[in-house]
Amino acid sequence: AQELLIKSEKLSIAGELAAGIAHEIRNPITSVKGFLQLMQSSNFEKQIYYDIMSSEITRIEQILSELLMLAKPQAVHFARKDVMVLIRDVVTLLGPQATLNNVQIITDLKTELTQIMCEENQIKQVCINFIKNAIDAMPDGGNLTIQLISSKTQELIIRFIDEGNGIPDELISKLGQPFYTTKEKGTGLGFMVSKRIVENHQGTVNICSEVGKGTTIEVKLPN
Ligand code: ADP
Repeated sequence: AQELLIKSEKLSIAGELAAGIAHEIRNPITSVKGFLQLMQSSNFEKQIYYDIMSSEITRIEQILSELLMLAKPQAVHFARKDVMVLIRDVVTLLGPQATLNNVQIITDLKTELTQIMCEENQIKQVCINFIKNAIDAMPDGGNLTIQLISSKTQELIIRFIDEGNGIPDELISKLGQPFYTTKEKGTGLGFMVSKRIVENHQGTVNICSEVGKGTTIEVKLPN
């Protein structure tokens, strides 16, 4: 009965996702189709049509690549990795985007124990998602502090502390739901995928947010 319960729960998540995916992907495809027809029947605005179609296709790609993160990874290589090094790599990667948005990323190391057993690329993806969200939350710039702490029980805690617009209490529960986004170009998948990855590592994700002040995303991972 327990197994059945888990199975039906999985099925309902799959159903919820399937409906969302169908909807999210049908919109850009309908738009591309419409512009293809327009291109066939007129000689004007080809550049504009091209730009719109290309951004709609990018959107489909983005949705699919985030969904693929949810699918069972082909090969899961759990290995002991230094999260500090990993974060440094991600910060280097996202540095230009942060600078462009007047966001300063500060890393605050409060522990010597920064190694954990993990699937490196997945934890990188989690950090990328949370850092990007923090940057997006600060349209006028600000500081993003990434704290690394170890808990009394030897878990590694990573905190992403932004000074952004914050999330109203009633919307916090929506973050884990697929396709919930407040961004024009958002997919509403990043948070859900990140949470699943952390949970697959037997970890947890906590949100603490105040509207107008900022958000702290706390990731706890077993050592
Ligand atoms: P996306 O970034 O594509 O919208 P996510 O699932 O990562 O998808 O996030 C869903 C929504 O949660 C965002 O659109 C935003 O409204 C909100 N959110 C996530 N992180 C933050 C943050 N650090 N500060 C404010 N809002 C956030």
